[in-house]
Amino acid sequence: MNGNKEGTYFGLSTPLGRSATATIRISGYKSKGVLNKITAGKLKNPKHKNTSVFDIYNKNNDLIDNVLITFFEAPNSYTGEDLVEIHTHGNPVIIDMVYDTLFELGLRLAEPGEFTRTAYLNDKIDLIQAESILSLINSNTKEGVGLSLNNVSGSLSKKIKKMRSNIISTLGFVEYELDISETDNQRETITQAHKNIKNLLLETSELISTAKYARIKTIGAQIVIYGKPNAGKSTLFNSLLNYDRSIVTDIKGTTRDTIEEISTVGNHSVVFIDTAGIRTTEDPIEKLGVKRTQEKVSTADLSIHMVTSVPKKSKLKPKNNITVLNKIDLLEKSELNKVKNNKNLVCVSAKNKMGIRLLLKRINKELDLKTQNKTTNQITSPRQEQSLKNAQNELQRALECKEDNLEIIAHHLTGAIKAFDILMGRTSPDDVLEGVFSNFCVGK
Ligand code: GDP
Repeated sequence: MNGNKEGTYFGLSTPLGRSATATIRISGYKSKGVLNKITAGKLKNPKHKNTSVFDIYNKNNDLIDNVLITFFEAPNSYTGEDLVEIHTHGNPVIIDMVYDTLFELGLRLAEPGEFTRTAYLNDKIDLIQAESILSLINSNTKEGVGLSLNNVSGSLSKKIKKMRSNIISTLGFVEYELDISETDNQRETITQAHKNIKNLLLETSELISTAKYARIKTIGAQIVIYGKPNAGKSTLFNSLLNYDRSIVTDIKGTTRDTIEEISTVGNHSVVFIDTAGIRTTEDPIEKLGVKRTQEKVSTADLSIHMVTSVPKKSKLKPKNNITVLNKIDLLEKSELNKVKNNKNLVCVSAKNKMGIRLLLKRINKELDLKTQNKTTNQITSPRQEQSLKNAQNELQRALECKEDNLEIIAHHLTGAIKAFDILMGRTSPDDVLEGVFSNFCVGK
């Protein structure tokens, strides 16, 4: 994507399909002229934020549609350029006709995320806010929307800016000491620098710890079902979803790849993941499936370990894990009573849909615990998490300078500032920007 592309561009900001209305956005210096042309001279000098109804026409003066047009004057628009929103009736045929007309007037189609990218390049928003717009659009829960909106408003950016200026002022007095080189004051300077760095490290790790929380709130919790072949994973997956998504057979190794489906549990948005059964195998495809299962288990927010007999206590892995004993329909009554009293297990018959409600209740409880609101500001993207980890690493190294070497402290503080700059998009390599904006659709 070329961020400095010239010209006026347009894109459909609503999903393509049939609907009451659809919105086409146009941004760039030709916007006013375009309005004049398509309204057959009825809208010559639009005023900022003016909204009115017009008939619009193609170049042969054929009527396209009766639409609502809003104009935003540069620099007070989303992109910082002249910006138009045309609200047509929501029919793809109408959208096509508007597109043809705009092409004929010399406009080009926007690239994915170009409206938001232009807003970033024109300093209307920083990179954190740009990402937050994406997470606001994609959030699957009310809380996800709330925290994304908080970040769009600049609350997280404000906090990051404050942390960055604390590093700059720490670097300032370290460098001052370096310049005047008075060894008497050196100890005092180092003590003060260490105190500031420790505080910054606390704030940094607090923000990093919110990444998982925010991911659950916006995208949904990743819940992986794993265990030995034929434990009943696919049957449970289908029971949790309430429809037959995965193929169930008694042939071991049927599920070779991971299968994911979005669902909800209580107030939580979740992604259930059915996996290949873990066993030693020579089949190369199944081997890949087993590797993928292990990766999913290590990154999941919650994992359901499926077993068909009670595991030894030492084999239980309570962290992020719910152990589910399946096929209880095959148990004798006395055995069933025994396992039902085992607090480490959730007992189900995936096939007969027994115990599923209890399992869902338990999942809901675990997710409630994981998403208890701790702090006002939360990060919402892996990129933000990585930049903060880079800053944390530099701060940690500054703190660990054993020889009390001010120059090395200054070096690592400079590194931490760079990481914060990348986080906010003050300096961002092209590939970082590409990574952020390629996740957007055309029209955003
Ligand atoms: P996976 O390999 O772990 O995904 O297991 P499947 O879901 O494919 O199930 C393997 C076999 O166990 C199938 O024949 C299922 O019908 C059977 N099965 C699954 N759950 C239950 C259950 O709760 N009770 C009984 N009796 N059989 C089950």
